[in-house]
Amino acid sequence: GATIGILGGGQLGRMLSVAASRLGYRSHIYEPGAAPAGDVAYQVTNAPYEDEAALRAFAQSVDVVTYEFENVPTSALDLIESLRPIRPNRKTLAVSQDRLTEKDFLSSIGLKTAPYVAVESAEGMEAAIAAVGAPSILKTRRMGYDGKGQIRITEPGQRDWTGAPSVLEGFVDFSAEISVIVARGQDGQVSAFDPGLNVHREGILRTTTVPSGQPNGVLTDAVLIAARIVNALDYVGVMGVELFVTASGLIVNEVAPRVHNSGHWTQGGCAVDQFEQHIRAVAGLPLGDGSRYADVEMQNLIGDDVEQIPALLKQPRTQIHLYGKGEARPGRKMGHVNKVL
Ligand code: ATP
Ligand code: MG
Ligand code: MG
Repeated sequence: GATIGILGGGQLGRMLSVAASRLGYRSHIYEPGAAPAGDVAYQVTNAPYEDEAALRAFAQSVDVVTYEFENVPTSALDLIESLRPIRPNRKTLAVSQDRLTEKDFLSSIGLKTAPYVAVESAEGMEAAIAAVGAPSILKTRRMGYDGKGQIRITEPGQRDWTGAPSVLEGFVDFSAEISVIVARGQDGQVSAFDPGLNVHREGILRTTTVPSGQPNGVLTDAVLIAARIVNALDYVGVMGVELFVTASGLIVNEVAPRVHNSGHWTQGGCAVDQFEQHIRAVAGLPLGDGSRYADVEMQNLIGDDVEQIPALLKQPRTQIHLYGKGEARPGRKMGHVNKVL
């Protein structure tokens, strides 16, 4: 059988490798940081992205390379791409590694984003706030996740700076946050999971619930937006599209060119979950049936939440996923549970 190369050894890479294994593939994870979470049957290379020999050996040991983390250095991607196909493609990575490029792309295909303006330095804040207004949110263009690298601007006089090139975006008055987990196969077929309702606290996703409770018109619109994005990118794989529901329609917050935390409910609600769907797409198999057969609430286990595990283990209709990480630090995603409602 073939071997799937996965850049990144966090929980998403781990769950992708489990899905690959179920389909009869081997997987090989490349992780530049500390050793990957947990211990499952995959091959691991633990080396920096600057280590060309390790990277070349990794690429040569696999048939296709995918990723669970989009911020892989360009030089490493160039080397890998000279040896093996990368799916989703490089164009998608270029677009999504930078919030400014991403918003420009979304606007260029006719989608609505929050009003935004690039800010290159602390000195640019006055003009940026004059353009976008307050309240607004300053976000680093690169590398932010779980609300890291973001500053809320509450007054026009506020001059806080992230320390890196950023985007200032207007605060969106949303009634709900939803996301679409969409998949596109190598044949161009597009399939979306039922959009979920997301609740964040302190910038971190806490729960995703399906059904979302949103009107059908909103859900259809959300899926059409997601399909437009993956088609425009000639995308192959699973993508997470985060949306704000507002009185004047849907606004795209951001996209993630990979499996997404808000898609974890699919493990408990669909015959084919987002991880299998992604592996199918990158391996060139037909997409599977992602229709939802249960109502599910996904709850992240963050930091101290691990103390709930003994009680959760005794609960009916509850599927527990633990990532095998060590210490439960505040804000650290340790696992999640899918409760079938
Ligand atoms: P992740 O990649 O982990 O989803 P992130 O660090 O990229 O997070 P965002 O998705 O940009 O962060 O923002 C995190 C949360 O902050 C959003 O889900 C939303 O709740 C809130 N938020 C972000 N941007 C805005 C905005 N322009 N208006 C209102 N709320 C916002
Ligand atoms: Mg993000
Ligand atoms: Mg987000």
